[in-house]
Amino acid sequence: MPRIAINIKEGKVAKESDLIVGIDLGTTNSLVAYIKDGEAVAVKGADGKSTLVPSVVHFPPDSEEILVGDEAREKLLTDPANTVYSVKRLMGKSYRDLAGFEHYFGYKIIDEDTESLVKVRVRNKFYTPIELSAQILKALKVRIEQTLGQAISRAVITVPAYFNDAQRQATRDAGKLAGLDVLRIVNEPTAASLAYGLDNRSEEGQTIAVYDLGGGTFDISILRIEEGIFEVLSTNGDTFLGGDDFDRALIDHWIEQNGADPQVLRQNKELSQAIRLLAEEAKKNLSQRGSFSRQLDGMACSIDRTGFERLIRPLVSRTIDSCRQALRDAGLTKDDIQHVVLVGGSTRVPLVKAEVEAFFGRKPYDKLDPDEVVALGAAIQADVLAGNQKDVLLLDITPLSLGIETVGGLMDVIIPRNSKVPSKAGRQYTTSVDGQRNLKIAVFQGERDLVENNRKLGEFILRDIPPMPAGLPKIEIQFIINADGILKVKAKELRSGVEQAIDIKPSYGLSEEDMARMLLDSIEHAEEDMVVRALLEARNEANNILLAADKFLRQQAGALSEEERQRTQALADQLRKLTEGDDKDAINRAIEEINEYTRPLAQKAMDQTIAEAVKGKKI
Ligand code: ADP
Ligand code: MG
Repeated sequence: MPRIAINIKEGKVAKESDLIVGIDLGTTNSLVAYIKDGEAVAVKGADGKSTLVPSVVHFPPDSEEILVGDEAREKLLTDPANTVYSVKRLMGKSYRDLAGFEHYFGYKIIDEDTESLVKVRVRNKFYTPIELSAQILKALKVRIEQTLGQAISRAVITVPAYFNDAQRQATRDAGKLAGLDVLRIVNEPTAASLAYGLDNRSEEGQTIAVYDLGGGTFDISILRIEEGIFEVLSTNGDTFLGGDDFDRALIDHWIEQNGADPQVLRQNKELSQAIRLLAEEAKKNLSQRGSFSRQLDGMACSIDRTGFERLIRPLVSRTIDSCRQALRDAGLTKDDIQHVVLVGGSTRVPLVKAEVEAFFGRKPYDKLDPDEVVALGAAIQADVLAGNQKDVLLLDITPLSLGIETVGGLMDVIIPRNSKVPSKAGRQYTTSVDGQRNLKIAVFQGERDLVENNRKLGEFILRDIPPMPAGLPKIEIQFIINADGILKVKAKELRSGVEQAIDIKPSYGLSEEDMARMLLDSIEHAEEDMVVRALLEARNEANNILLAADKFLRQQAGALSEEERQRTQALADQLRKLTEGDDKDAINRAIEEINEYTRPLAQKAMDQTIAEAVKGKKI
């Protein structure tokens, strides 16, 4: 196999390939696969050991190169603050979505109680989950490019069936930032079924269950496949249940058996790391053998399969409860399920297999490697898109993304490129100025982050919105593409019912070359677009905070001491000044600073208001 060095920054490579690869971007592990001589295969690293790339990103001190995968995973215990794992859990999430789960992450998530998307703070810099996922995707891109000796620029990426629009869009953006044109986002259970050739093309169709138990998450999906078209009937699961919990159960057991103090692990990081690795090794061993025994730091760490199964049985039972619920939600019984597919490393555990088989009353598909099956299916889907599977019919799709302009000239995609036609999608917006009567809706087509680089399709004005404070109106914008490819854009203010619509023909006047150029542009400029977008978003957030701070200073003047007032004002002035510059990290830091300072003050002011209200009340 030829291996060549590739500089991804300059994009200098031997030759460009028209191969489309399949990528499983997992919570614990990620991998890349492609079709080689008609067979889907997952790609191993340069050391030839494993197809799995741990989904971990480590930021070393100074400007040393960022580490991804096995090397980054080793830093999890020694340098947790600068090592990001499970970033998939953050995709498309706001701070509020994560409330209550902060303790799960060893790194710093900016925990403002707002609607804006989360950022991760590492060494004084702010990263979005999109940027972090892009690092993992870049590592996979390099891996396959080195294996094939070709530049790769197109991919299919999988996501859980329950991912919403924002999470799917974030995954697309991560691909773009990694220099990949993401031709399709595919549901993980759909990919797994494809890998097993379950894309039933017959008219009667079939119903299948896909059981996916990974490192930290569990999901069950019930799919209906008819004439090659997949429909998700229901999903269920637990986003905090997986093989890592098996490891933890085993560690707790060993600690107890040896009469050791659980505190010891919290203090001794090396021991804690060693025992975690040993527990995982024991677990994997027990998937094949009857018992495991080892000494660690004077502790006897042994367990047999029966003992292990006793430890994990309650966890496995919870997954079966989810299966029951998923069937109920789909309005089906076990007898309606024709096939069961096993996905995820943790389905290698014999008890898991046995319980799934007992529940569904049929032998599950488990011939393919459960770690790889999703990536293999993605590679098959990619091959279909490449037009290599002649007997598969491709439905009409939108060639370029469609969206509207939002604050700061940013493109907000409503229907992503490669969506099936006909198609319908919508999103809610609000006003940014008090008493705003009219809202201009400008519709754009293209892949760039700034609308000025995309193609304008048209605009209209939603008039006569009743005056309300900024942020209160609920304006729903809907994009509907009919079977002829005509786009209808509708805007409606939900509180008052005011509405307006236009019709547009999106691809009018665009040649294939134009489209190809627009796509290439978007990939070429992905990195610089990202920088601009991050800056604009930081500025937008800063402006919101400044408005709130001014209001706060005006309304709560009485509740603040002179010193508190002056300090708040100084922090606001500093932030205002920074918004005129281009340093998004400095803006984000200033936002964090003012938030941290004013949060207790706001709380105090609120308590006072409540106290006064209560005082004034006659009972
Ligand atoms: P994800 O989809 O969340 O990225 P994976 O499907 O890669 O996760 O599953 C990772 C989990 O599978 C880990 O907890 C790992 O310990 C477990 N695992 C891998 N191989 C085995 C095995 N042979 N026996 C039991 N568990 C295993
Ligand atoms: Mg997975």
